[in-house]
Amino acid sequence: MGKIITIANQKGGVGKTTTALNLGACLSIEGKKVLLVDSDPQGNLTTGVGILRDELSLSLYDLYMNSSSLETAKVQTAYENLWIIPSTIDLVGVEVELVHRENREFVLKKMLSQFGSDFDFIIIDAPPSLGLLTLNCLVCADSLIIPVQCEYYALEGLGLLMKTVELVRAKLNPALKIEGILLTMFDGRNTLSKQVAEEVRKFFGKKVYNTVIPRNVTLAEAPSHGKPAVFYDMRSKGSQSYLSFAMEFLSEESTR
Ligand code: ADP
Ligand code: MG
Repeated sequence: MGKIITIANQKGGVGKTTTALNLGACLSIEGKKVLLVDSDPQGNLTTGVGILRDELSLSLYDLYMNSSSLETAKVQTAYENLWIIPSTIDLVGVEVELVHRENREFVLKKMLSQFGSDFDFIIIDAPPSLGLLTLNCLVCADSLIIPVQCEYYALEGLGLLMKTVELVRAKLNPALKIEGILLTMFDGRNTLSKQVAEEVRKFFGKKVYNTVIPRNVTLAEAPSHGKPAVFYDMRSKGSQSYLSFAMEFLSEESTR
């Protein structure tokens, strides 16, 4: 079975989707077979790999509703080694429609287990909430990568996320690990950015990756061209930082 990693933080705009997209792309360049799972109804990961939502007939929603098979919902992107289970705004409905279903926290886990060892890594982009969709993302994961934006209030909400992780471990997924904390949108000219990075390192110690993702315009621009940054402008600072991060991730993931 490939390793399942969820990119989680219930705060919006911290770099979850950017991290899922670019870590996935960088790992695919390294020859790893990667499946991205867009679990955010906003569908930014889907458009980020150049898939037009209007043209989709099947998405993660259909899988939750048991109205499609994994094989048919899975889409090969324009890039070698990189697949995605796309999402559309329909996915919002899952929160309501699962409420009365038995084992509702285990739907995604059951779904993904069918893939066996088809992929080296399955990377899931979680939505900015702690509802049922996110719970499914936490229950099926081997580990979590938590992006933390180097801005004021960065640590706010992390306590609640850690508490949720504890609850999930106690009741639903005892093996859930924190893969690592990734500092994002770092601005070296900004004292606050440095202070926040220091504070996060003090709090989470070795769990924080050495690689820091800088604030970089290519990372923000590339998705509007339907490309992960590394396939849009490999030499940009942002692309290089995600390539370094992918290497650090690969060298450490077995020991974390
Ligand atoms: P989330 O998925 O946590 O809501 P996103 O990855 O969508 O966060 O990032 C929020 C916004 O910030 C997006 O417009 C994205 O393109 C932009 N962004 C993300 N990371 C960076 C970065 N390192 N530098 C500049 N812009 C970034
Ligand atoms: Mg997102």
